[in-house]
Amino acid sequence: MSENEKDYAGPVGEGLYSVNTGDWRTQFPNLDQQLCIRCGNCLIYCPTNSVRRVDGRFEIDLSFCKGCAICAEECPKDAITMKKEGKR
Ligand code: SF4
Ligand code: SF4
Repeated sequence: MSENEKDYAGPVGEGLYSVNTGDWRTQFPNLDQQLCIRCGNCLIYCPTNSVRRVDGRFEIDLSFCKGCAICAEECPKDAITMKKEGKR
């Protein structure tokens, strides 16, 4: 059991380890709610389950987002843009 219950557990090498995928990020997704058509693609494709549906809107929790940009690639409306870390 992880000391930090918020850690993301994933298979690494020969075992199952707790890793904070958010530490890998060099860029982060920014979701423009005005452009979003609520299709849910970003939620379906995100490999770290970082996209949440809250009151019908889609929001990104950056805690474990690793900045892979898959959500931005899969968004049909280009509502998600990637920004470099440190420029929020
Ligand atoms: S950048 Fe990658 S990990 Fe972060 S929300 Fe998008 S798909 Fe998920
Ligand atoms: S993929 Fe794009 S349009 Fe679809 S819910 Fe996510 S941000 Fe909105």
